Parts: sequence; C-alpha cells; structure tokens
Amino acid sequence: MKVFKFGGASVKDAKGVKNVIEVLKKVGNSNILIIVSAMGKTTNALEIVVSHYLNNHPELKNAIDFIKKYHIEILKDLFDNKQHPVFEKVNSLISDMETTLKRNKSVQYDYVYDQIVCYGELIGTTVVSEYLSLEGYVNNWLDAREVIKTDEIYRDATVNWEITQQSIAEKVNKKGLTITQGFIASDTNNFTTTLGREGSDYSAGIFAYCTNANSVSIWKDVPGVLNGDPRVFENTKLLSQISYEEAIELAFYGASVIHPKTLQPLQRKEIPLYVKSFINPLDDGTSVKKGQRLVPHIPCFIVKKDQILLSLSSLDFSFIVEDNISEIFSLFHTYQLKVDLIQNSAISFSVCLDDKFNNFEKLLSHLKAKFSVVYEKSVSLYTIRHFDEEAIQSLEENKDILLKQSTKETYQMVAKQ
Ligand code: ASP
Repeated sequence: MKVFKFGGASVKDAKGVKNVIEVLKKVGNSNILIIVSAMGKTTNALEIVVSHYLNNHPELKNAIDFIKKYHIEILKDLFDNKQHPVFEKVNSLISDMETTLKRNKSVQYDYVYDQIVCYGELIGTTVVSEYLSLEGYVNNWLDAREVIKTDEIYRDATVNWEITQQSIAEKVNKKGLTITQGFIASDTNNFTTTLGREGSDYSAGIFAYCTNANSVSIWKDVPGVLNGDPRVFENTKLLSQISYEEAIELAFYGASVIHPKTLQPLQRKEIPLYVKSFINPLDDGTSVKKGQRLVPHIPCFIVKKDQILLSLSSLDFSFIVEDNISEIFSLFHTYQLKVDLIQNSAISFSVCLDDKFNNFEKLLSHLKAKFSVVYEKSVSLYTIRHFDEEAIQSLEENKDILLKQSTKETYQMVAKQ
C-alpha cells in the first residue's frame, strides 16, 4: 500500500480537486490511502471562528457563513447535479459544528479549537471522496479520529502508538482506495485532538508506519524539496535526493516543506518519502531515503520568522550554570515555548524561542523574578546547512544581525526582521 498526502493548497478549488484525479490517472489508484487537508485556507478561517466564538464577537455568524459559502461554491463547480447528496453532507457538517459551539461549556481555547478546526478536514475529505466516487473511483471515507488515538494535550497531542497501531490494523483496508484526514485524532474520551498546524504530513507518517506502507508521497505546488523557500530566497534549486537525517535537520530548523515529526516514523521502518509536484506528477521530485547523499550538494537556506531572542543573566553576577539552566528549561517546557537555538557564556544565556502558544508574557514574569532579562521580539532565525563563505555573505547582506553561531555543517544567525 502507498500513502499519498494532498495539502490544502492542492485542493483549494474545484480545479485542484479535479487534479487529484489527474494525479491518480498518471500514477495509479489501487491500494492507496489518501490524506487530504482542509481546503485552501480553511484552517485559518476556522481559527477565526474559534476566536470570535470565545470572544463573543458579533462577526461569528459571518465567519461561519464564509466557510460554508467557500465550500458550496467548490461543490457547485464539481457537481452538475445540485441534488447530489454531497450538498446535504457538507451542510450537515457545518450544522454539526454550529451545534458543537452551542453546546460547548468550556472556555479552554485549545480544547474548543480542536473540536471546531477538525471540520475543515472533515468537510474537505467529504468533498474529495464524493467527487472521486462521482468520477468512478470507488473509495472508502475513513474518520481518522477513529484510528489515531492521542493524549489530551489539545492542539499539540502526542500519539498513543500502541492503540493507534491496533486500530489501524483493525479498521484500515490496505486494498483499494481510502480517503482520510490528516492533522486530526482523538483522545481516550473520543474528544477531537489535533497534531499541530501543518500536521497532515505527520498523519501520513503515522498511517504509513502502522500499515507498513511501501512509500509516502506528499504532493506539493513546488517540484519537491528545494534548497530554500522560493518565497523568501532567490534562485532556489531542487534537491533530488536527501537522507532522513538531512530531512529531519532541515525540518527541525524550520524548512516548512515537511512537518518535522513526519520523518521519524518513516525512518524507523525505512519507508521512502517522495515530495512531488501535483502539477507534474511524473517528474521525479525529491526522494528521502536512508543514508542517501545530498544531491546536489549545495547550501540549504531556512528561515523561521516571528521568533523571540531572549537573553538572561543572573541578578547577582553569579554564573549561569546547570541548576539555573535546568530551571529555565523547565519553565520553557511549562509554557510550551520551543527552543530553536542556544548560546551561553559564563554570565549570560541566550535562546531563540518560538512562542506558538502565546505564553511568553507569562514566562517573562517568572524569569524576571530571578534573572536580568533582555529580549527582542519579531526576530528571524536563519539557518544554512552545508554553508560556504559565499552563502554566508549573501545571507548576511543588509541584515541587522543580533547573534550568530556555527558548527561544522550548520550556520545560524538571528537578525531583526
Ligand atoms: N489543515 C491543517 C493546517 O492547515 C493541517 C495541514 O494541512 O497539514 O495546518
């Protein structure tokens, strides 16, 4: 069996949904599990719904109507028969979402987020599944929440591999064509959980691992993994092959082309990952396999925006040593701040942080009690893997650099945005 993943950009309109069939026609359609993300920017639109709901904002109804209209327009383009049951199915998913909001009693943002944002994936997969059926591609629609089981950490859930493995073995048909969602899962009480933004790639890794799939293909609007995000860097080139380790490093430093957690399950079972263009599905794209050399061997550029550079020194000029460092890290953990770079000297300790959950202010009040704190918000963390002088020079040009460091293969710099 193979696992395919189509992201939101690939199914953002009727043309995109039709293109899924073009890809299947070219590369085959039997024994495939397809993961489809929420269409276009639906997840962002649902985030607005959640925030309007929790803030009692008068625009809540409009925010829901916007999502409804967007999907109905796509359906109208795909289905000539306006009596097709898919219209009813999508409408009833939206009503379910509204009922969930009405009945909800929780004010906990992360919990409400997961119960609502999942509708993007549920609706998107329903549209794709129904359209494939219409076109003669018999398929099974699977609710991923029935098989991917996690803990109760909403918005950043951790997979329970044992239960997940077992339910996938019981419920996933390795033959034929299955359509399911990425990103969403459920906890032991069957409440919806999510695996973090862009988490559908990770779901592809989970399904592949648990079914011993032959390969995973992620279909993208770029030709494969490039040596830099083309929206940020000029003259980017396609990497035709990389190793799991390299891909993990690139994803870790912030290359958004593959979700960082995706690679580990694949590496464990040596399941090859292909990143390919959904526009030219027969092109080779990038293959990620065990022990492969980086081809071509060129510097790879990564940028992570909206980071915080935080520097701490002790209030009494004593050294920053193991016990303070462990205390600082435990606070990062408590407030879910991700550490992307560390630099320390005898009396100061600097880190570049990703404040995905908006907890920095809370962290700050704790730190200020014990340390002298300096910080700069909205900075960018740049990384070059396999750097050379020329690469560093081109990156540093015209930047207000706050910190740099390098190891044998990796150069990093924090600069103002
Ligand atoms: N729909 C989710 C998001 O936009 C998950 C994904 O597409 O990977 O983050």
